[in-house]
Amino acid sequence: MNLSYPITYIKGISVQRATLLYTELGIKTCNDLLNFFPYRYIDKTQFYQIKELQPNSSDVQIVGKIIRVKSVAQKRGSRLVATFVDATGTMELVWFKGQKWIKDALKINEPYVVYGKLNHYNGNFSIPHPELELVAEYKKKLQTKMQPVYPSTERLTNTGVSNKLMRTYVQYLFKQFLNRIEESLSKEIIEDFKLMPKRDALLNAHFPKSQEDLTKAQNRLKFEELFFIQLQLLRKKLINKTKIQGFIFENVSDNFNTFYKDHLPFDLTNAQKRVLKEIRKDVASGAHMNRLLQGDVGSGKTIVALLAMLLAIDNGFQATIMAPTEILANQHFIAVSQLLQGMSINVDILTGSVKTKKRREIHASLEDGTLDILIGTHALLEDKVKFKSLGIAIIDEQHRFGVAQRSKLWGKNTLDNKDGLPPHILVMTATPIPRTLAMSVYGDLDISVIDELPPGRKEIKTIHRFDSNRLSVFKFIRDEIKKGRQVYVVYPLIQESETMDYKDLMDGYESISRDFPSPKYQISIVHGKMKPADKEHEMQRFVKGETQIMVATTVIEVGVNVPNASVMIIESSERFGLSQLHQLRGRVGRGADQSYCILLSSYKLSPEGKTRLKTMVDTTDGFKIAEVDLKLRGPGNLMGTQQSGVLDLKIADVVKDSKILVAARNTAIALLQEDPNLSKVENIPISQAFVKMSKSSKIWSNIS
Ligand code: ADP
Ligand code: MG
Repeated sequence: MNLSYPITYIKGISVQRATLLYTELGIKTCNDLLNFFPYRYIDKTQFYQIKELQPNSSDVQIVGKIIRVKSVAQKRGSRLVATFVDATGTMELVWFKGQKWIKDALKINEPYVVYGKLNHYNGNFSIPHPELELVAEYKKKLQTKMQPVYPSTERLTNTGVSNKLMRTYVQYLFKQFLNRIEESLSKEIIEDFKLMPKRDALLNAHFPKSQEDLTKAQNRLKFEELFFIQLQLLRKKLINKTKIQGFIFENVSDNFNTFYKDHLPFDLTNAQKRVLKEIRKDVASGAHMNRLLQGDVGSGKTIVALLAMLLAIDNGFQATIMAPTEILANQHFIAVSQLLQGMSINVDILTGSVKTKKRREIHASLEDGTLDILIGTHALLEDKVKFKSLGIAIIDEQHRFGVAQRSKLWGKNTLDNKDGLPPHILVMTATPIPRTLAMSVYGDLDISVIDELPPGRKEIKTIHRFDSNRLSVFKFIRDEIKKGRQVYVVYPLIQESETMDYKDLMDGYESISRDFPSPKYQISIVHGKMKPADKEHEMQRFVKGETQIMVATTVIEVGVNVPNASVMIIESSERFGLSQLHQLRGRVGRGADQSYCILLSSYKLSPEGKTRLKTMVDTTDGFKIAEVDLKLRGPGNLMGTQQSGVLDLKIADVVKDSKILVAARNTAIALLQEDPNLSKVENIPISQAFVKMSKSSKIWSNIS
């Protein structure tokens, strides 16, 4: 028998029960059960005497005897009452259910250990449905003082799988296996970090002897869990680097240089230069580039992407950018076309609304290589879209795309590509991910960060106002428009209550129309229910400055660039998530003027809502905002984390245990530098555990 056996090998677990444990909790093997950790512990380090009990005591543990049992009739049915005594006093144990078999099972005048939640009523103490164990039995068991409480489900409790039963199963496991649990870390690592040995750690994580041992045990297991994840990600990265070849862009010639000298409308920021250097190093290395570019809204990722594409073109390749929305793809197309004016580079755009005839032209020019840059939405992913030789694929706002879509781009067939090499991949995101999380989610990607905004940007002034201040907000809008500025007014549109939200938007539009009457004021309105062409028309009116106010839902969230717009009003801002608020605010502050973001809300704010609005008022730093978001919502709700393994962590928490994560990652890096194949004798425990783990985990799918 070994740990990979199914749990039916445990005494008391039938096939039926095993199935239930699997469907409800995902526990299949003995090892799964061993790594199924309690979520809290009942501290039974203390025994009480009856005379010590206080009306406000909660869970108590007492040794005593039952001297009498009787049924007491009550309004509905009856209750079973046992009189329980110790040397210092008398109290009652009470049952409302299962009275018959409990009555039969109770032994009179034998010492019991009783545990449960204390009730105090009419001067008498009682414990309803206590845990009971004969002292003789209690002494036989593994002596553990803190009792584990395991996560459970309603179905499990209803079918009799109580916490006590779970405990018995785990205890059985330890009795069978304790000596066979193998160490999975090297001596060196254990000594360096003063970690508890694996065996003790597992035992103490289930049955801790003290609070101190529990902490030590948990730290050891967290370290181990994070360490092996990092090891896996880093190994994958290492293998990709050495095994997956990439196109070599060795020439930096005409296009890149001409553009850099004559067409670049501004100096690059230092951060942009640094990132560009990182990309150039990658694409010249002969290995395949798989890089994530993080940069806050407005930090200037597009120009970096363009320069990377020019490198590809200088080396005879084509390039593509995929954006999540048509509006954004359009904006990229316009920006890139403008920047490249006067150079002989062909750029085109492919979206869902491109007509068949034009579509055919694009397909043909892609295949014969006359089209250099194709910008588009996921329409790019269609099978018909084939490149002659795609050298680099750039994905903007990558969190909007699923893994499948991204990997499709990776496999985009290139006709000239006899070596079968994938294009270099650059994924860009404006949703900053805290460093610690990025390490676990994107540990196998190289990460570049643009952490500097272009010069001359003024910090966006952000204020929070209650709905009742609307009049003064409107006055402020009027003053800004007088100065020639434009204004966004955004309403939340959340799927579940779409009709209601839609009504809010329309009511809002009407009220704004009343306060800002035509012809003096012109207002655009854009929302998800409009036809794409109408949406586009309204957007364009605003972009061209024909309208001063844009009333919209979050469709404008991503990407639109109107430098003259300097005020962002967010209605019902308490209903937006932090990253969404941050993205919306990023629509203003793109020009030289002072910009403002006004968060309107009702007086009724949840504590979380308050924190969100306060965070927005306090900072414009996307990374700080992401940290708060992570704390508020946990990693599961952060964009881009859904498909990654961080959510399946058994014991560690990427937010709370970020220190351990950093230590684990550094340890893994050092180890791989010294022993990339984990073949040294002293690392045998690690390599054995690693092999076992890699076999059983399917969560580390290709992120990009
Ligand atoms: P994002 O990172 O949000 O995609 P963009 O690439 O759209 O940002 O850039 C935002 C704006 O900043 C654009 O108008 C762009 O022309 C401008 N910009 C980018 N880099 C610089 C720079 N180094 N100096 C001045 N303006 C810049
Ligand atoms: Mg962008």
